[in-house]
Amino acid sequence: MLVVMKKDATPEQIRRVVETIERLGLAAHPIPGTQRTAIGITGNRGTLEPSALESLDGVLEAIPVSRPFKQVSREWKAEDTVVDVGGVTIGGRALVVIAGPCAVESYEQCVTVARAVKEAGAALLRGGAYKPRTSPYSFQGLGEEGLRILARVREEVGLPVVTEALDPEGVGLVETYADMIQIGARNMQNFSLLKRAGKSRLPVLLKRGMSATIEELLLAAEYVVNEGNPNVVLCERGVRTFAEHTRNTLDLSAVPAVKRLSHLPILVDPSHGTGRREKVLPMALASVAAGADGLIIEVHDQPERALSDGHQAIVPETFRFLMERVRRLAPVMDRDVHAPPTLFPR
Ligand code: PEP
Ligand code: MN
Repeated sequence: MLVVMKKDATPEQIRRVVETIERLGLAAHPIPGTQRTAIGITGNRGTLEPSALESLDGVLEAIPVSRPFKQVSREWKAEDTVVDVGGVTIGGRALVVIAGPCAVESYEQCVTVARAVKEAGAALLRGGAYKPRTSPYSFQGLGEEGLRILARVREEVGLPVVTEALDPEGVGLVETYADMIQIGARNMQNFSLLKRAGKSRLPVLLKRGMSATIEELLLAAEYVVNEGNPNVVLCERGVRTFAEHTRNTLDLSAVPAVKRLSHLPILVDPSHGTGRREKVLPMALASVAAGADGLIIEVHDQPERALSDGHQAIVPETFRFLMERVRRLAPVMDRDVHAPPTLFPR
């Protein structure tokens, strides 16, 4: 249920509505808007009777939220959410490109790639210190040492850092060193991880599970938001199908689907979405044309020596070309491209 206040509702009237909701044993979530304030209600098991709330002073109407996800839905909040990541905003007019290696392998590798992607126009640096690998014998990431490398590169190059936490305990470490917590496809429904990320001060990049529906993705986001962290960015990264010409099938229709159902920003990852480097550029451009708020792309200076996902990594020169194309395409979509930050507060 969403209680929409009149335009001229006073703070006192809003407070009365919140109190009334709480007296019913429910949670009230005031949502200030540019036009008017709305107050969302969660915690009800059945349907609520709108008339009890509509009779309160200052209330315009009480409308049921029909979707299973509430706080991330467009019904709940019509305006697009803009998420701040170390001073870089995702979800506004400017497209954001996150780039970097799949995994942090060494300081030299990380700083080389970071400098190259920043020069080409990436606004955020990616790189995994904890890698969710299919095989236990594959490179698992450098762990906290990888996070320390990311933090050092962050200071030296000046790009905020996005990195994955694999479990609730790992969130604390990512909070110490980075600017955004990535929750990977394999962990999209790791509910204790989602809840822990929901208690974080850092924004969350939530990747779609490889067989997750859009509704499941949005319900996963709801877990994070419901714990008090409204700063969630979604990411389409391909789903598993019968296709053999790609690693995954990049579902670009997820972008307009999410935009219709939710106010949260959505990025596309054409690297994991295709798994083949020659497909990254065309699918990156298609993502922008589909209305994505940005891209996350794997870049490696020596892909043939990469410790993970080398076959989908593009080299810095290709990334420069990709950024040029994205900058040329953006105006067609009424967008521009976020420049790398010049400085960012810690
Ligand atoms: C990654 O971004 O490095 C990653 C592991 O992606 P995904 O969770 O989408 O497979
Ligand atoms: Mn990868």
